[in-house]
Amino acid sequence: MHGIRRVPVVFVNAYLVDVAADEPGRGWVLVDSGLPALGAATIVKAAAARYGGRPPRAIALTHGHFDHAGSAARLANLWKVPVLAHELELPYLTGQSDYPPPDPTVGGALAMMSRTFPHGSINLGDLVRPFDQDGTIAALPGWRVIHTPGHTAGHVSLFRESDGTLLAGDALATMNQDSWISNVTMERELRWPPAPLTTDWGAARSSVERLAALRPTAIAAGHGLPITGEAAASELERFAEQFTPPSDGRYVREPARTGERGVISLPPPVADPVGAAIRGGAIAAAVTGVVLTVGHQRRRSRRRFAAD
Ligand SMILES: [Zn+2]
Ligand SMILES: [Zn+2]
Repeated sequence: MHGIRRVPVVFVNAYLVDVAADEPGRGWVLVDSGLPALGAATIVKAAAARYGGRPPRAIALTHGHFDHAGSAARLANLWKVPVLAHELELPYLTGQSDYPPPDPTVGGALAMMSRTFPHGSINLGDLVRPFDQDGTIAALPGWRVIHTPGHTAGHVSLFRESDGTLLAGDALATMNQDSWISNVTMERELRWPPAPLTTDWGAARSSVERLAALRPTAIAAGHGLPITGEAAASELERFAEQFTPPSDGRYVREPARTGERGVISLPPPVADPVGAAIRGGAIAAAVTGVVLTVGHQRRRSRRRFAAD
């Protein structure tokens, strides 16, 4: 991908985007900011290697989840640059509304892990402002903001029309996060957006169809390795045609309802026997640990007493 550097931060990608492809001296924009703290450290290092100490023109967020916006405040303060996001994402980036809680019952490896994910809002305060209404980005000429809701209400993807490069965020993934093995091998595959955090599956499908209509030549997402080449457009077209949401889950049955102030209403929670068992197991393990530790200390103190 010309003029774009992928910066992996554990399991999520951030992207350094040249304003003029392959001319790093002309400036750059950061797309997504990775996990809290770790994202900032990794991105600062990668940016220093490519742009010296030069700050970006702006930080553009595809959405506000913790793995994409986690280091936005730290980097915006460090570089003194604005953060841009879709206006429907602002409630979750200004402390007005928490995201709908993850759905651990939707199935797969990521859903299992999602029990530990934070879903609270991040408060960027005055650092964040909405993208321009006309879908262009003044700081990044030649790119278009495409509203791709479904994963979150104000999710956007970025598209460079001159060469068909798509930064899809979490509108889709280029790996199967639901498979434990694929989380290690990162095998390239078009997949639905990260399932436990996707709260409107009908909108998610429409968004994938919107992206397929762009016929991209390179697809770089928040999770996975980029898919590039002549087959990218036809693969995405086929994926959009065959897009099927997970078979069941809290937001599969009914979407979360959201508005310009954030969450309006949520579908009822789904029973989570696995989560209950894990919590029960954790409590049992903690109790066992305390009993064993106390027993051990008692035996030690008895021994010490006997030795005296
Ligand atoms: Zn996300
Ligand atoms: Zn993500």
